[in-house]
Amino acid sequence: MSTHPDIIPQAGILDISPYTAGKSGPGGGNRVTKLSSNENPLGPSPLAKTAYMDMAACLEIYPPSDHADLRNAIAEVHGLNSKNIICGAGSDEIIAFLCQTYAGQGDEVLYTEHGFAMYRISAMAAGATPVIALESNRTADIDALLAACTDATKLVFLANPNNPTGTMVSDAEIARLAENLPKQALLVLDGAYAEYVPSFDGHAGLVKGRKNVFMTRTFSKIYGLGGARVGWGYGPDHVIGALNRVRGPFNVSAAGLKAAIAAINDKQYTAKCQQENIKWREWLSAELALVGVPSDPSQTNFILARFGDDKTALECDAYLAKNGLIVRVVTSYGLAECLRITIGDEIGCRAVAGRVAEFMKGARA
Ligand SMILES: *Cc1c(COP(=O)(O)O)cnc(C)c1O
Repeated sequence: MSTHPDIIPQAGILDISPYTAGKSGPGGGNRVTKLSSNENPLGPSPLAKTAYMDMAACLEIYPPSDHADLRNAIAEVHGLNSKNIICGAGSDEIIAFLCQTYAGQGDEVLYTEHGFAMYRISAMAAGATPVIALESNRTADIDALLAACTDATKLVFLANPNNPTGTMVSDAEIARLAENLPKQALLVLDGAYAEYVPSFDGHAGLVKGRKNVFMTRTFSKIYGLGGARVGWGYGPDHVIGALNRVRGPFNVSAAGLKAAIAAINDKQYTAKCQQENIKWREWLSAELALVGVPSDPSQTNFILARFGDDKTALECDAYLAKNGLIVRVVTSYGLAECLRITIGDEIGCRAVAGRVAEFMKGARA
């Protein structure tokens, strides 16, 4: 990469490996099915689309800076206090606010072995040191996390269920983590996939009544609004107060706010997306297991398919790509023998199951 002799980024910035997004596939006319970024194959609620398009009539108007309408809608649906909610341009922005606010030079940001890439990037962008706790069988290990804590640990990020493993640990285990962290550490529970788990509150209940636990959520996954960039966080007064000092006043777009409100209020549509996802996830994981490609029980809208070795996984990725199916190589997560496959619609699931079966029976790109 190119550098300038005098205009120099802060220490550590150039050590960051940039985020690699799920591939979109070849441009042009080729029809591809994108199963690489955990997007909702059914798209957002039609009501959210209409709300978004309606905002085209007043694009010159700045959005509200307090996000009150969206915070109230979230509070109502989840039974939370709206003053303990903060909205961001995706939950990625909330993750960045947390790192900027709580972690700097000499501080440690802890997360699990196969934790979401943005924890490391945001920690390093803030000048802090990322620290990894090993998982056990691709599942967060609470004892390993506790053992990795030091006097310098400021933030502990844990996605539950986790991306890219799809696995989940119990509420009791998370409570044990919260209760045994060093006193200067804030536990951040990333609930990006919480809506895919029936009757799961994303650990909102653990945030209530504690001063050291925070929850992040997103409209990018089950709500199908990844392109609109809306996420939120829920936590104690002292954290919300600090994050709001870092947040820019107009960080969420007007159309994004309106679309998110419509999406969260369309509970019927969300329930349908949850049911379809479970149905096709269970079908796909069973089909792949039958042809020798196992995966851990997933609680999310993707499965982490295990191919036994790196070479087979890469060859299968190439075979799928040749046939218009884009999945996610997860080498950067230390899972080179796996491919992460988003649960598509029925057509997408049948297509990927069929192609993986062909590949396992000897077909090659
Ligand atoms: C997708 C994802 C997010 C968030 O994405 P945004 O689009 O920025 O809200 C956060 N955490 C995990 C674990 C994710 O997989």
